[in-house]
Amino acid sequence: MTTAALVERPSGFHALDLSPSVLSALDRVGYIEPTPIQAALIPKALAGRDVIGQAQTGTGKTAAFLLPFFNRWRDRNEPGPQALVLAPTRELVVQVAQEANRIAPHKRCRTVPIIGGQRFREQLQELRQGCNIVVGTPGRILDHLSRGTLQFDRVNYLVLDEADRMLDIGFRPDIERILRRCPSERQTFLLSATLPPPVLRLAHRYMIDAFHINLSPAELTVESIRQTYVSVAAHKKFDLLLKVIEKERPRQCIIFCERKRWAQEIYDDLRRVFKRVAVMHGDLEQPQRTRIMQRFREGSVACLVATDVVGRGIDVMGISHIINYDLPADPENYVHRIGRTGRMGKDGVAIAFVTPEQGELLTNIEAYINREVPEDRHEEYDAFRAPKKTQEPKVYVPVFGDRSRKYSRRL
Ligand code: AMP
Repeated sequence: MTTAALVERPSGFHALDLSPSVLSALDRVGYIEPTPIQAALIPKALAGRDVIGQAQTGTGKTAAFLLPFFNRWRDRNEPGPQALVLAPTRELVVQVAQEANRIAPHKRCRTVPIIGGQRFREQLQELRQGCNIVVGTPGRILDHLSRGTLQFDRVNYLVLDEADRMLDIGFRPDIERILRRCPSERQTFLLSATLPPPVLRLAHRYMIDAFHINLSPAELTVESIRQTYVSVAAHKKFDLLLKVIEKERPRQCIIFCERKRWAQEIYDDLRRVFKRVAVMHGDLEQPQRTRIMQRFREGSVACLVATDVVGRGIDVMGISHIINYDLPADPENYVHRIGRTGRMGKDGVAIAFVTPEQGELLTNIEAYINREVPEDRHEEYDAFRAPKKTQEPKVYVPVFGDRSRKYSRRL
């Protein structure tokens, strides 16, 4: 074994080249591993780059843009503020300021929130006690600027947080007025959940050669996917699947299952009914997988039963429907799965089957994608609702090729 192999490589935040005082502050608050946005943004920021970061709230983006500033901060009693963070709402300002004061490398490294609805005098007192970072909403910041109670001539680190929301609610002229009061020699960061053209235009006007990080799964921003869920008893899922296929008549669809064995079982049952069906999971040999994907791409396979091996990155234009036969345990996988449809501006449909015990999983997904998934009611399959007394035998309507016969029902 070589000596190099014996030397332990730094991991977690220690791999990011942060100063000992920043690392010990992180230890104190219990941040061990950087989140993806932190791992991506911090090295670029430390290298002096401007950064446009696409990331959602709750992904650790506050620390991502604060830590590089803390890394350069020195306890020298310099006049401040040296950093300015603009955010759209009072709540967000307070939250950012709290996080800043919590993870600051020293209590003399102070962050002051500047928001409307508070007394000017109190804010002035706070500012006079020393202020390295000002976090504020644009309106109140402008008030301070016009009264001369704040100066930004020392600001060399500027953050526009939730830039898409700021532009949404018409802050743009205010922001531009504030930016004009900041030195042009500075490092600028723009964080935004989405990057619509006005945000990008703003970004390029106020940033130099910005490095672009996109960690919002691209699909989070795909508005063209119609998402619904169906509440279903576990033993009625297969029947529901057949019904959904009949009703929706997908051009091409992927039916996602959580386990290889389950995918194989659904496929075995489904191919008794439909012709152009295939299965894809990690137990298949690579040549077979390649062949199936090829047939799916060409459209000769219309319905692919699959595990998450096809959850990411697969780009097949014809996919009109994603059926989450099993809800994924990880909300991120939900986003990756449904992102297989609705690509390049095409419409897509994503239907999730939710069993009674999976309510929390669905809630987690909704929190992650930051939107409510509406229910599509199919009462006859719902475990919570009374079943109909009699069910008419179903007649198969040809979909996906033709095997015109009644299908067998799996319970
Ligand atoms: P944010 O997206 O900045 O609002 O952060 C979301 C939450 O994650 C906050 O409660 C942070 O305190 C927490 N957080 C941020 N970074 C980390 C990390 N590396 N490890 C653990 N928790 C973190």
